[in-house]
Amino acid sequence: MSVEENLKRIREEIPSGVELVAVSKFHPVEALREAYAAGQRCFGESRVQELVAKEKELPTDIRWHFIGHLQTNKVKQLIGKTSLIESVDSEKLLRLIDKESEKAGVVTNVLMQVHVAREETKFGFYPEELLQFFECRGYETLTATHICGIMGMASNTDDMQRVKADFKAIADIYRTIAANESLGLRGFDKLSMGMSGDWQLAVEEGANIIRIGTAIFGEREY
Ligand SMILES: *Cc1c(COP(=O)(O)O)cnc(C)c1O
Repeated sequence: MSVEENLKRIREEIPSGVELVAVSKFHPVEALREAYAAGQRCFGESRVQELVAKEKELPTDIRWHFIGHLQTNKVKQLIGKTSLIESVDSEKLLRLIDKESEKAGVVTNVLMQVHVAREETKFGFYPEELLQFFECRGYETLTATHICGIMGMASNTDDMQRVKADFKAIADIYRTIAANESLGLRGFDKLSMGMSGDWQLAVEEGANIIRIGTAIFGEREY
């Protein structure tokens, strides 16, 4: 199936109000052009160099989401290039994004990445850590960063009960924070979860951003 056919099929299945991020990491610019020609405008990349290089070659109306682990020494290069950095996994990184955004005179939209999966290797805040960050109003001193919501990943397993429980846990954290009016958050309304193999479950649990790579572009060659 072509990229165009894959996109068409997935779009038909996605309920309205759910944003599809086409995860194009490791795929060549031609593949992104194909998706663009099929109407796709939102792309996800996980490496700064790759996003910056592709951004230069492709139309300016593309909205780029950064979805990978962001090293602090790469932040500066990324600022001003993204519509959303989905993967803020430490307060240090958040502060740096804020500092560099202010310097560049832009506001950067971000999601806080929460870690619920069983793997040791995944990045993100533990749920209690993230709740504490909000309760301590750690966001109030930000001057050039807008926290738009939460991103998370389920455990990498075939056990769909486990995956569903992970999505539910991520959604619970999101809702707990979003519903806490005393925090005074504005525009905190994005919940990004679900990939090629599990996005239907994520949407059932309330995701309004899904990040799909393989089901659009095929297998990646690392
Ligand atoms: C690679 C990646 C995806 C897409 O995964 P697929 O299984 O190819 O759909 C989604 N989210 C993140 C954070 C990723 O790194």
